[in-house]
Amino acid sequence: MVYEFRYLAPKSKAKLCAMLLEHAQDGKLLAGGTDLLPNIRNGVFRLKYVIDLKQLPGAASLKYSQQDGLILGPAVTINDVLRNRTARRLYPVLCDCAHELASHQIRNRATVAGNVANASPCSDMAPALLCLGATAVIRSATGQRTIPFTQFFAGVKKTVMLPGEFLEHIIIPPAASPAAGRYLKLKRIAGHDLGIVGVLGTLQDGKRRFAVSSAAPTPVLVENVAAGDDESTVVKKVLAAVSPISDVRSSKEYREHMIGVFVQRLLQEVQ
Ligand SMILES: Cc1cc2nc3c(=O)[nH]c(=O)nc-3n(C[C@H](O)[C@H](O)[C@H](O)COP(=O)(O)OP(=O)(O)OC[C@H]3O[C@@H](n4cnc5c(N)ncnc54)[C@H](O)[C@@H]3O)c2cc1C
Repeated sequence: MVYEFRYLAPKSKAKLCAMLLEHAQDGKLLAGGTDLLPNIRNGVFRLKYVIDLKQLPGAASLKYSQQDGLILGPAVTINDVLRNRTARRLYPVLCDCAHELASHQIRNRATVAGNVANASPCSDMAPALLCLGATAVIRSATGQRTIPFTQFFAGVKKTVMLPGEFLEHIIIPPAASPAAGRYLKLKRIAGHDLGIVGVLGTLQDGKRRFAVSSAAPTPVLVENVAAGDDESTVVKKVLAAVSPISDVRSSKEYREHMIGVFVQRLLQEVQ
């Protein structure tokens, strides 16, 4: 189903914020459109206005500094991250998750900001942002606020962003040494697919973290892993943090089982 809507492409943040407020009920932001356009076509959203953020100055900027870390604008695509040498060298875990997201063609359009703003439980970028301690810079007509991604997701397809706000930047802090880690994603088919379950395990400065996708209403970060914990204790801690459901892609029990398998593998592999 396709219907007519007005396409707006503001060239300043002030105009964008004004449009977001004015069209809070009948408009939506467009980044890469890989979530938004299927929802428009399927009739999930019935919009009068689509507000493209890609004309904003600096929207596609991907910058690194030793002081601030990696700063991603709202139009930075998944493939922009994968093509960036600094991101690959200093944030391999971010690139591992990025590489698991959809196909090369989708990754050319899909943005990191759109992936987390969409707030799907199966977001593949959220686990990296959670484990790396990233923050969201949210802008509205009245100013900016910064919150950690641990507080960004509010439920299935819900974030803490209010009407009139948008995700202006993602900041991934600098680290003395890159986090080691790996993202294991279970899919129904080989190649690109949404995850049945995904587990990222990282080790940085002696601290282990896990982040799990597709296993709760929001992506989940597990930080309470102690250096002396044995495998089964760690598996129990991760399973205690999630609440998987049965749906078309998997049963709850299979999800739980595979989370355990992935956590064990990650404990062995990520050293
Ligand atoms: C075939 C296919 C396969 C896919 N596979 C995967 C997969 O394996 N893993 C995965 O995680 N996802 C997958 N997706 C989903 C999608 O590609 C990603 O979530 C993508 O990163 C969304 O980014 P986008 O720029 O396209 O967002 P858009 O579609 O432009 O926007 C998504 C939502 O976020 C809002 N939004 C966008 N940017 C902002 C912002 N800066 N501030 C506030 N709100 C904003 C929009 O209004 C919209 O509601 C797939 C999609 C398709 C079509």
